[in-house]
Amino acid sequence: MNTKDVILELRTKNGMSQDELAEKVFVTRQAVSRWENGETVPNTETLKLLSKLFGVSINTLLGAPRQLVCQCCGMPLEDEMISREKDGTPNENYCKWCYADGAFTFSDPD
Ligand SMILES: [Zn+2]
Repeated sequence: MNTKDVILELRTKNGMSQDELAEKVFVTRQAVSRWENGETVPNTETLKLLSKLFGVSINTLLGAPRQLVCQCCGMPLEDEMISREKDGTPNENYCKWCYADGAFTFSDPD
């Protein structure tokens, strides 16, 4: 899938209008319309906001060009397994079992 299709699908699945999505990620409705027409793609900062809003990785928003793998345990990552930072932003480097709320979950085996 292309970014335009991914954004359209996530927006409609979440029952949002283009206006509502635009407001949530601080862009104009025209910007959302351009993404969905494939004229432009969101910039890095906006991708981060979309990632947090929809709970999917930036990789997914970009049409999943690569297979994400947890850099800690090596498990292939699906969106629902991706860890989160303290503010809820998905961190696509780690699975949720290795990393949660901005910290590694395993403690020092002292
Ligand atoms: Zn892991």
